[in-house]
Amino acid sequence: MSQERFYYFDNNATTRVAPEVADAMIPFLRDGWANPSSAYRMATEVHKAVETARSHIAELIHADPKEITFTSCGTESNNTAIHSALVTQPGKRHVITTAVEHSANINFGEFLRKQGYDVTFLPVDSDGSLDLHLLEKSIRPDTAIVSTMWANNETGVLFPVEEIAAICRSKGVLVHTDAVQTPGKLKLDVKATGVDFLSLSAHKLYAPKGIGLLYVKRRTRFQPYVIGGHQERGRRGGTENVPHIIGFGKAAELASAHFSTEYARVRKLRDRLESTILKTIPNTFVNGDRENRLPNTSNIAFEFVEAEAVLMLLDQVGICASSGSACTTGSLDPSHVLMAMGLTPMRARGCVRFSLGIYNTDEDVDYLLQHLPPIIQKLRDISPLNPSHPDNDKYDVDSARAKHEQDLAAAVGKEDERTITA
Ligand code: PLP
Repeated sequence: MSQERFYYFDNNATTRVAPEVADAMIPFLRDGWANPSSAYRMATEVHKAVETARSHIAELIHADPKEITFTSCGTESNNTAIHSALVTQPGKRHVITTAVEHSANINFGEFLRKQGYDVTFLPVDSDGSLDLHLLEKSIRPDTAIVSTMWANNETGVLFPVEEIAAICRSKGVLVHTDAVQTPGKLKLDVKATGVDFLSLSAHKLYAPKGIGLLYVKRRTRFQPYVIGGHQERGRRGGTENVPHIIGFGKAAELASAHFSTEYARVRKLRDRLESTILKTIPNTFVNGDRENRLPNTSNIAFEFVEAEAVLMLLDQVGICASSGSACTTGSLDPSHVLMAMGLTPMRARGCVRFSLGIYNTDEDVDYLLQHLPPIIQKLRDISPLNPSHPDNDKYDVDSARAKHEQDLAAAVGKEDERTITA
């Protein structure tokens, strides 16, 4: 790997593996490689270490360790929860989720539709929040599960999971939350929140990729998604990924001990970054509710530029950021999250997400603030969509912008058929 210095502002895509986490994992790659299900002492020690990791993670979310099932990732956890709700309630063929979910839910919902299930993708308003009355009205006698994210990966906007769970409980409907973006950043208490299922993924918590979990509340009827051996108390087949589970456990231990202080510091860094951008670069806007959001995320619209060009120029000076979910990188479509919030395709294509983490420093923010304004200026100087472009008087900018907007809308498909309206 390159030893070049990078300034990393893409912690919602993935996080660096904490050195303490890597150190905790190495003995289980070198020596503790026995199968934790085997009966001899060499394996019993490994089994014990897996169970200790499970308790640290359970502590982080205030669950009972028996309620934690390890999976391969957040995507598998989400798919498992929804699949289980449908299979254990065969008479119920309706699923409710939202239009701003991660592709783990959006694409699974579309797959379910093709299988003949009915899936409602609830809309959001312009600041990214859900209408809980609409959610309540959308619940039907055949609704098997409501699955909504806790924190949006693109904007950081939080959904009121406790209130959503209360509505679902009052209607006798199962509720799942995709909490992949939250651990360490928010207090997580599954008991107080009252959800039946909750997904996490270790690589957003300074542990490696390829390990996640599904919390399943005690006494909730459950059907495994990965069917095989008796691992995970019969809830998920496949030999456990021991080193990664150990790493996940260590990360949870660190998060319980230190992360509320760390994220208080991160929030200050994020706020300084955001307010300075807004002050120093004209025609910039924050996407999403500025209060009710994660402490590390800032999604900013830069008018008259294409985010992909901004990201390329940032990359040239070693700055890593993104225009949305890493899972949709390479797609030319504007973000489905920003479109669901009512941004025009043109504005949505000028949005950059900066997501900070515990390894970011004031120096990183200074570096970004030094490089970003000239990059935006340079791109605006050559953008015909910019009203202050030097050639502005040579042609009709308003028509050019309207035409560009129309072309983009046509490419995207004006009516997003996933979203239902009130
Ligand atoms: N849900 C959200 C909100 C995410 O941000 C992500 C990853 O970016 C996922 C689910 C998928 O997690 P994983 O990459 O572990 O499958």
